[in-house]
Amino acid sequence: MSHHRITQAIRIRTDRTNEREHSSPLFLTSSFTFDDSEQMRAAFADETDDNIYSRFSNPTVQEFTDRMVALEGAEDGFATASGMSAIVASFMSFLKKGDHLLSCNAVFGSTHTIITKYLPKFGIEYTYVNAGNPQEWEAAIRPNTKMIYLETPTNPGLEIIDLEAAGQLARKHNLILNVDNCFATPIGQTPIQYGADLVVHSATKWLDGQGRVLGGVIVGKKELIHEIYLFCRSTGPSLSPFNAWVLSRSLETLDVRMERHSANALHIAQALEQHPKISWLRYPFLPSHPQHAIARSQMSNGGGIICFELKGGLDSGKKFLDNLQMLSKTANLGDTRSIASHPASTTHAKLTPEERQLVNITPGLIRISVGLEHRDDILQDILQTLDKC
Ligand SMILES: *Cc1c(COP(=O)(O)O)cnc(C)c1O
Repeated sequence: MSHHRITQAIRIRTDRTNEREHSSPLFLTSSFTFDDSEQMRAAFADETDDNIYSRFSNPTVQEFTDRMVALEGAEDGFATASGMSAIVASFMSFLKKGDHLLSCNAVFGSTHTIITKYLPKFGIEYTYVNAGNPQEWEAAIRPNTKMIYLETPTNPGLEIIDLEAAGQLARKHNLILNVDNCFATPIGQTPIQYGADLVVHSATKWLDGQGRVLGGVIVGKKELIHEIYLFCRSTGPSLSPFNAWVLSRSLETLDVRMERHSANALHIAQALEQHPKISWLRYPFLPSHPQHAIARSQMSNGGGIICFELKGGLDSGKKFLDNLQMLSKTANLGDTRSIASHPASTTHAKLTPEERQLVNITPGLIRISVGLEHRDDILQDILQTLDKC
């Protein structure tokens, strides 16, 4: 019997031990033993899928991976120590000297560093294309282009990229389409359905959902994941079994959590949209969002992130953070607790004003990761600090 993917995210598990425990055990071990030399030989020769060493595979890590594979509708997956190690593995497994990467210009900060600083060290070229304008992407494709990389919704500007169009472009030019699905989660959208070959995640955010552990995962086509497995098996960015155990439990509540995160976020976005201290507010499921129609067609909810621009600019941004009474001031997102951040004075402060403009970080931009507290309390805190901006 094949179950719904939400059920699979709850029910897929490692084999029971002789204790017949209901919850999944944690296999906190670095290596696995063999009965004899023949069994060991066969495992090392890849003739069996016996576990050898936790850098290669581990039952607890496999459970988390299998649940993510089910949620994303993928063929296979590999879990990593962080979102960044997932992204780096997805690049290094397929790009070589002389290859070209096409990426949307609004990417997570550390991803930007990998693309612009480290890939060129290995002779890998890149072109940034406008996230909001896929028409200009095709003209940027070169004979040596190998991969298209994108995030949607983007961080922190919440631009929506048309996955259907990106999937068609990748197929037409025989490119690997690699999508960071961190912001939407597989509850919000499943890029593989639109032709993505690889989906990468920071499990640190919504997948954990409680701000406890770092983790990452890559899912996608079987033959591509095999390449990633070979890369990771040798280079060692594998996920800790302990973190995998935590993340695997988290996936059991992902669907209900994302439903509430999104409902809270929509309510707050609607309540703040016309606020006199705010010049614009962006949330994918508000009709005012520039790519609202695309968001509605490819996403099943608007997600838990809202961003808006304070009329008072940089100064108001700092005051907004300073006068918060409940919302957390922290760099993370996707937590049960609501979080506010002001990129221009924190995560993106080192960029020049021109660079900030290029990635749409305006001086008064505030990003809210809407948590699971009662929506009245979240809104109340935002309204009282807005009064002081
Ligand atoms: C946080 C984040 C990452 C990096 O993940 P880590 O787990 O912090 O390494 C990558 N992409 C996006 C969109 C993120 O928000």
